[in-house]
Amino acid sequence: MTISALYQIYLQYPIVTTDSRSCPEGSIFFALKGDNFNGNTFAEKALKEGCAYAVVDEAQYADPENTRIILVDDCLKTLQKLANFHRKQLGTRIIGITGTNGKTTTKELIAAVLSETHNVLYTLGNLNNHIGVPLTLLKLRASHDLAVIEMGANHPGEIKALVEIAEPDYGIITNVGKAHLEGFGSFEGVIKTKGELYDFLRQKEDSIVFIQNENPFLNDIADGLTLIRYGVNENIYVNGKINSCSPYLTFEWKAGKDGHLHHVQTQLIGEYNFDNALAAVAIGRFFGVEPAKIDYALTNYTPQNNRSQLKETEDNKLIIDAYNANPTSMMAALKNFKRMEVKHKMVILGDMKELGDSSIDEHQKIVDFIGTCNFEKVILIGEQFEETEHPYDTFPNVSEVIKLINQDKPKGYYVLIKGSNSMKLGLIVEHL
Ligand code: ATP
Ligand code: MG
Repeated sequence: MTISALYQIYLQYPIVTTDSRSCPEGSIFFALKGDNFNGNTFAEKALKEGCAYAVVDEAQYADPENTRIILVDDCLKTLQKLANFHRKQLGTRIIGITGTNGKTTTKELIAAVLSETHNVLYTLGNLNNHIGVPLTLLKLRASHDLAVIEMGANHPGEIKALVEIAEPDYGIITNVGKAHLEGFGSFEGVIKTKGELYDFLRQKEDSIVFIQNENPFLNDIADGLTLIRYGVNENIYVNGKINSCSPYLTFEWKAGKDGHLHHVQTQLIGEYNFDNALAAVAIGRFFGVEPAKIDYALTNYTPQNNRSQLKETEDNKLIIDAYNANPTSMMAALKNFKRMEVKHKMVILGDMKELGDSSIDEHQKIVDFIGTCNFEKVILIGEQFEETEHPYDTFPNVSEVIKLINQDKPKGYYVLIKGSNSMKLGLIVEHL
């Protein structure tokens, strides 16, 4: 079946699912394959449970008698092509967002600001890969006037593939840093991959890139693009500075050199969120959101899912950043914590994963930095930290730390908890 024929079916049944456990009445099921499953085997079940059509790519699951089963060469590619076709049909303006850290937060902030005056579609949670991006695009409706699409990558070429599906008109790379070095090969590999968004926009007429003005890596790869700048330099489109982050970020911004000065009190922890918030100001301003509404949206936004969340327990105050960790985000979290004007600081850090050959070096840099911080208590968890040189207590896993905490019962601390998701640092929270 051609994509345009499939599109006619989609127009009639515009809800798409890839999960046979969730088959809304009248939806289209796409049989994707994972490491441990083959969606083709669920096609019939999906039809029984309410799907109007099932798209499969293995002939044995296609029944020539049953016109509700559509056989294609490759379900994933078909899903991506359908999403791209739909995106082109509607012609909605799309903002593509990638970067090493802060994609989801920046995406949420941009969406919050733009939603003040626009009908915005935006990536749900972290659905930023080769499946999440097309599924998000297939939620586009004619009533949306803007879409904000998060794009993530662990390997070279992945952003190129995603921009070719989403065909953004506007782009933002939040930053480039050290993460997934195993997959990218090197830091240069990270820059090149994120730059695939710029490469796409360079070819596209009337495209615009929002850029953090003071980031040398981004400026290095931005030749030939139309740029709108945000940062600290007073002469640029949106500029500002941090006023405090103890613990919540408050900042000020203005438009150009002589613009009216705005003060924003956020509910975000971490000075690094200043860049994320300023990006949202710049994009809001560009798309005509009134400044007071921009401030309102940023003031009211509260982060979700262990991303720089502050939690007060009976005994301690916890900054829970246990959702992910890489050298750049861990250093950002530590610098922020160092700067916070509070007493009795404790850090509990878990290994950063997927760093390949540079892993021990990167962990060593982190412990060396901790040496400059004067934290009252430092607890390190994992075999990578164990391999580094330092005077701190190191534990093989979270359970050992929980035992220690239950024994010592620390009280009155400000605790930063950060590590890769697989280190399961979130488990510590209920014991503090
Ligand atoms: P993922 O790759 O998992 O999709 P992401 O890029 O979407 O991550 P977020 O989920 O927004 O990033 O934030 C994850 C963590 O990254 C935050 O909790 C914080 O520690 C760190 N972080 C966020 N923004 C920045 C930034 N601008 N610079 C450095 N670190 C940041
Ligand atoms: Mg994300």
